[in-house]
Amino acid sequence: MQPTPLLISQILRFGTTLHADQEVVTWTADGARRATYAEVGRQAAQLAHALQGLGVEGDDRVATFMWNNVEHFVTYLAVPSMGAVLHALNIRLFPEQIVYVANHGGAKVVIVDNTLAAPFATLLAHLPKVRHVVVNGPVDDDTRAALAAPEHVESVHDWSELLGGRPTTYDWPENLDENSASSMCYTSGTTGNPKGVSYSHRSNYLHAVTTAMTTDVRQGDRLLVVVPLFHANAWGFPYLAMAVGASLVMPDRFLQAAPLATMIESEKVTYGAGVPTIWLDLLHHLEANAVDVSTCRGLIVGGSAAPPAMMRSFKEQHGITILHAWGMTEMSPIGTAAVPPAAVEEGSDAYWDYATSQGRLVLGVQGRLIGPDDGEVPWDGESVGELEVRGPWITGSYNAFGGESENELAEMAAKFHDGWLRTGDVGTLTPDGFLRLTDRAKDVIKSGGEWISSVDLENAIMAHPDVLEASVVGVPDERWGERPLATVVLREGATATPESLRGFLEDKLARWQLPERWALIDEVPKTSVGKFDKKVLRRRYAEGGLA
Ligand code: ADP
Repeated sequence: MQPTPLLISQILRFGTTLHADQEVVTWTADGARRATYAEVGRQAAQLAHALQGLGVEGDDRVATFMWNNVEHFVTYLAVPSMGAVLHALNIRLFPEQIVYVANHGGAKVVIVDNTLAAPFATLLAHLPKVRHVVVNGPVDDDTRAALAAPEHVESVHDWSELLGGRPTTYDWPENLDENSASSMCYTSGTTGNPKGVSYSHRSNYLHAVTTAMTTDVRQGDRLLVVVPLFHANAWGFPYLAMAVGASLVMPDRFLQAAPLATMIESEKVTYGAGVPTIWLDLLHHLEANAVDVSTCRGLIVGGSAAPPAMMRSFKEQHGITILHAWGMTEMSPIGTAAVPPAAVEEGSDAYWDYATSQGRLVLGVQGRLIGPDDGEVPWDGESVGELEVRGPWITGSYNAFGGESENELAEMAAKFHDGWLRTGDVGTLTPDGFLRLTDRAKDVIKSGGEWISSVDLENAIMAHPDVLEASVVGVPDERWGERPLATVVLREGATATPESLRGFLEDKLARWQLPERWALIDEVPKTSVGKFDKKVLRRRYAEGGLA
């Protein structure tokens, strides 16, 4: 066979020609902006010329500090296709983390949304490697001056002016090594300092094919991409969309349930992607507001466990199937997807058993479960172990560009085990490869030598009709070492009490697993990518806070 390298530029070429009339819709305060894939292709070429003009060459990094919008999508395609490396910065990290990640990545050009330009300007003095800033959209003179102020910044450009008038075609290099880096992402630091992962052209290409296989997204679908382009490689959605010819609906900064519901209705969204908290909010919004979401047939949900009660409500009330998937930044991210076998009757108990699991290992991802004694445990659906994975889109190491401390290097190396990535996730596998996670290793509650799954407790509590959100953490306990503490957000006007909630759980879980500590709170704190932030909860309740 021909040794054609698998490159992002092939996805770009394919998508912008065969699917030229698909579109990217970007939400704005005054309605939607639209660009066809043909226009996206022309802009990608113009951007590549512009970046070349700014001195981008070889495997230079180009960073973004942007929401999900068409310009971010163009950058996702252009930067890797020209041979450079895209580094999408997580705009929601703490400032010192952004500075750490941006300096570590080392980009000399950063593309910034105008709505984020002012906060970015305050960070820029701490980013000495940045030479050029490109601003997407108009900014006032003060903001522009602030961006230009640091001595190391040589130029500040407006996106449209920089691209305008440049050639709309580009000779995308065809001789790139498919194993060279095309982009990188840093973990969101849920469990420690962000660590960097570099994806290759090959891994991204193969991952796009796999997401196409697992999601049933097809030509003409309209994808609402809520998962940020800076989170875990945007779950591969930009490349998936180009590959299968699906249009994109990009919410920009309008990520609340109300505008998302409007987007689904007015843009006739057929499929969406995001973390559970986003869809929980949407579900509650739909209960209180008449919105037509009948075009939407599916949502892919991952990043943390999708509550089964939420999955059932979407299906039963709105006819929307939730595809539960599991993955990690380190895995590009797809590792499993919960598609019940065809022979299983929709809506049956067996169906929900499959659908609410994390799903089946996808082709290409090998897994094994390592038990407490460091030996492999069997795939029998019962034996619990830490999942380790390997495969062509799973990172073999973390970014180390020099300057890391010995501690950091040791911590990074410890995440690998004879060529396998330790996921830090604990669960079971069935003989046919369906994964059920019981917890993150760090979140498991170790009570008197037994393990309690925080996820099982959360799912059981969230099935109570009065409960909006629940997050369970382990808190120190003199007698048992650790005991679960349940933090619960009630719906408006709800009357449930810790006692009644505990009563509700009694026939669902073993007695010793039931929390005796409860805290009714207004909101569960969230991480930069919208997951329940258990670090914060543990800190807050380490002393055993009660309702
Ligand atoms: P971070 O580690 O900073 O949260 P990631 O988004 O890469 O960044 O998180 C990957 C982790 O998220 C996984 O290791 C797992 O613990 C959790 N996760 C992802 N998807 C699921 C899921 N469907 N169910 C439960 N946990 C999940």
